[in-house]
Amino acid sequence: MAKKGRVFSGARPTGRQHLGNYLGAVKNYVALQADYDCIYCVVDLHALTTLETTRDLKNNTYEMALDWLAAGIDPSQTIVFVQSHVPQVTELFTILSMVSPLGKLTDLPTFKDKVRENPNNVNLGLVGYPVLMAADIVLYKADWVPVGIDQQPHIEFTRETVRSFNYRYNCSVLKEPGMKVTEVPKVIGTDGQQKMSKSLNNQIELALTAEETQKVVMTMVTDPARIRRTDPGNPDVCNVFSMHKVFSSPEEIAMVNIECRRAGIGCVDCKKLLARNMNTHLAPLRERRAELAKRPDDIWDTLKDGANRARAIAEQTMSEVRAAVGLP
Ligand code: SF4
Repeated sequence: MAKKGRVFSGARPTGRQHLGNYLGAVKNYVALQADYDCIYCVVDLHALTTLETTRDLKNNTYEMALDWLAAGIDPSQTIVFVQSHVPQVTELFTILSMVSPLGKLTDLPTFKDKVRENPNNVNLGLVGYPVLMAADIVLYKADWVPVGIDQQPHIEFTRETVRSFNYRYNCSVLKEPGMKVTEVPKVIGTDGQQKMSKSLNNQIELALTAEETQKVVMTMVTDPARIRRTDPGNPDVCNVFSMHKVFSSPEEIAMVNIECRRAGIGCVDCKKLLARNMNTHLAPLRERRAELAKRPDDIWDTLKDGANRARAIAEQTMSEVRAAVGLP
């Protein structure tokens, strides 16, 4: 069956993936492969904008790629690679910088957030982050970029950059990507409050063993008003229940919903049930991960092969870009 176009997406190398990464992005990456030619990139250069040390960069890249492949990203049909292995992206970044208004970049909400988070490290790379992102996308002439609501301004910026470039150089070399807005579930961490994130240490990693998963699930914060086992609870404010909605059967979800409210089930049993279902769901992924991890060189070979395929597309785009700009 003919595919419906090319999808590009990138993610910073954050190492072992957690349920927030999996439910928020990786699952969608896997699903998109059926209908689109997909290119997925570990954006290591982007990571440099905020990293103080690059000591773990290589291992984080490896661990993330391992989880992606274990989750079902299939390198026989999808290009998976590391951003810095295709240096054409930095050349395009430089060229696109010339059509990127500085005021626009410093006005983007994500830039302001980053300045707030890293007040002592506001570097040029941080300002140019959306330009590098635009270069990533247009280098591969992506038709679609899967995005959550918060990333829409970046894609809009990419589209404007494409228009500015094509207008300035009187060409139609670069392609405006479309947005594939996906309903990205906000996965809350074990603290029951904040988005799941490694930096907040509230994550549940995909690669944990079944026992480790159960241990972490047992630490999850529940309905704070439910102090004693005999207190009725409110599943609507409990993150354990949100997770049941993802991993448990409709009957189990209905049971927890009813029994929690009348103190018919305790939080300990409720969490044990969740951990069991989570482990059942993740078992095939973990088996594949363990298999893949036996041959680390194969993961790097997969990424190298992906870079070779990506480079062929990138070089074609860059020869058109150089000609349009008039570079000798
Ligand atoms: Fe949350 Fe389950 Fe406890 Fe209800 S019984 S508060 S849903 S953990």
